[in-house]
Amino acid sequence: MAEVIQYEEVWVNCLKIIKDNVSDQSFKTWFIPIKSVKLDNNVLTIQVPSQFFYEWLEEHYVSLLRKTIKRELGDDARLEYRIVVENSSASARPTTINLPNYNNGNSKNPEVHAPLVVSNNIKNPFIIPGLKKVNIESNLSHIYNFDSFVEGDCNRLSRSAGYAVSTKPPGATAFNPLVLYGGVGLGKTHLAQAIGNEFRQNFPNKTVLYVPSDKFTNQFIDALKNNSVNDFIHFYQLVDVLIVDDIQFLANKDKTQDIFFHIFNHLHQNGKQLVLTSDRPPRDLEGMEERLLSRFKWGLSADLQTPDFETRIAILEKKMYADGIELPREVVEFVAYNIQTNIRELEGALISLLAQASLNKTEIDLDIAKKIIKNFVKSVSREVSIDYIQKMVCEHFNIQPDKLKEKTRKRHVVQARQLSMFLAKNFTKNSLKAIGKHFGGRDHSTVIHSCQAVQNQIDTDQDFNESVKDLQKKIQMSIT
Ligand code: ADP
Ligand code: MG
Repeated sequence: MAEVIQYEEVWVNCLKIIKDNVSDQSFKTWFIPIKSVKLDNNVLTIQVPSQFFYEWLEEHYVSLLRKTIKRELGDDARLEYRIVVENSSASARPTTINLPNYNNGNSKNPEVHAPLVVSNNIKNPFIIPGLKKVNIESNLSHIYNFDSFVEGDCNRLSRSAGYAVSTKPPGATAFNPLVLYGGVGLGKTHLAQAIGNEFRQNFPNKTVLYVPSDKFTNQFIDALKNNSVNDFIHFYQLVDVLIVDDIQFLANKDKTQDIFFHIFNHLHQNGKQLVLTSDRPPRDLEGMEERLLSRFKWGLSADLQTPDFETRIAILEKKMYADGIELPREVVEFVAYNIQTNIRELEGALISLLAQASLNKTEIDLDIAKKIIKNFVKSVSREVSIDYIQKMVCEHFNIQPDKLKEKTRKRHVVQARQLSMFLAKNFTKNSLKAIGKHFGGRDHSTVIHSCQAVQNQIDTDQDFNESVKDLQKKIQMSIT
C-alpha cells in the first residue's frame, strides 16, 4: 500500500516541476495522459497511451523527464515506459477522415514494456491485422483517373512512376515516397488521385487516403485543441497508401512537420506507400525540416511540366470527347495556342466556349472563339472579390474572417488584415477607400500604410515572401 502511494506521489511531484517547464498546451497534450504505474528499485514506470506518444516524449522531453525524475528520486533513478496497445476491436467503429476517433475506453491488448534505452528500435505494436479493416473515407474523386490523364513528354516519368506505384503492392517499388512536383494547374492533384483510385481498384482490401496538406494541418491543430493527438496519429497509421497534396504548405509549420515526420516514418518502415505533391522540387522547399527533406529523397521525385502544343490539343480533345462535344479543329488549335501556362486555364477556356455556345445556341467558329477567349483572359483578373481574398488569407492564418473587421491589435490578426488589404489592392480594382470599408470602415491612409508594411516585409523576410507568393498563387488558381 505504501508503495502505491509512493509512485503516485513521486509522479505528482514530477508533474509540478514539468508544468513549470513546458507550455500549458504541451502539458495537457503530453503529460496529463501519462499514468504512473510502478516504482521498483528506483525505476519509475510510466504508462503512455501509444507507441507514438512514447517516441514523441523521447524526442522532445526526454531530458526534462530525466532531470525531473533524478531530482525526485536521486541520481540513480531511472525511467521506464509502458505502452498501451490498442485492441483491434476498435475497428468495429467506422471512422472518417474528418473525425479521427477510436475507442480507447474498454478493451486493451496486453501491454508492452519499452525501456528508455532502446528508444529508436522497438517494433511498433500497432500492426494488428484487425485494425486494417477500419472504414476510412479515401477522399478521392473518381473523375481523376489514368484514363482521363493525357500522357505527354511533360509528364511521362511522373505518370509511369505513378502507374507503377498503383499497380504494385504498397511499398513494393523503389518510388517511396513518390514526390510529384510542378507548377499550378499542371496535373499534380489529378495524377496523385489517379494513383489512389487505380490502387484501390487493384487492391480493394487496402486503405488509401488522400489529404491536402492544409487539411492535414488543420486536423492536427484540432487534435491538439481536443487533446486527441493520439487518435489523429492512429488514424494516419492505419493507411496503406497515404497521399498528401501540396506539401509546400507545411513550410514553417514546425509542429505539423514533426507529426508528419513520425507518421511518414511509421508508414515507410511498415512498407506503406507515400505519395506527395509539391509546387516545387523538394530541394527548393524552404521552411522544411532537414530530416523531412532527406526522407523525401529516399524515393523518386518526378516533375510535371507545362504541356507542349500537341499535348494541349490532346488534352482539349479528351475533355471534348468526355463531354460529348465537338469543336472545329481550328478553334481547338486556337485555344491550345493561346493558353499555354497551365491545364486548368485550358479547361477554363474550353468551358467558357461551351457555355457561350449553349447560351447563344450558336456553333463556335474561330471568330467567336477569339472574342470569347479574349474575354475569358480578361475576366480572370476581374473575378476576385475582397471577401474572397479575406477568406483565403484567414484560412491561411487560421482565424475567423470577422476578426479582420474588428479593432483587435493581436499580431497575427494585424498581419492577416494588412496582407488582405495588400492583396485586395493588387488583385481587385477597388479604390483604397472601398478596400478600407471592407475592413470595418478603416480609412484610405490605413490601407496605404498596410500595403507598405506588407511590401517592406516581403522585401526583407524571405519566408513571408514565400507565403505571400503561395497565397497569390492560390488566389489566382481558384479564379480560373
Ligand atoms: P495541380 O494540382 O498541379 O494544380 P490539377 O491536377 O488540379 O493541377 O490539374 C488542373 C486541371 O487540369 C484538372 O482539371 C486536371 O484534370 C487537368 N489536367 C491536368 N493534367 C492533365 C492531363 N495530363 N490530362 C488531362 N487533364 C489534365
Ligand atoms: Mg493541386
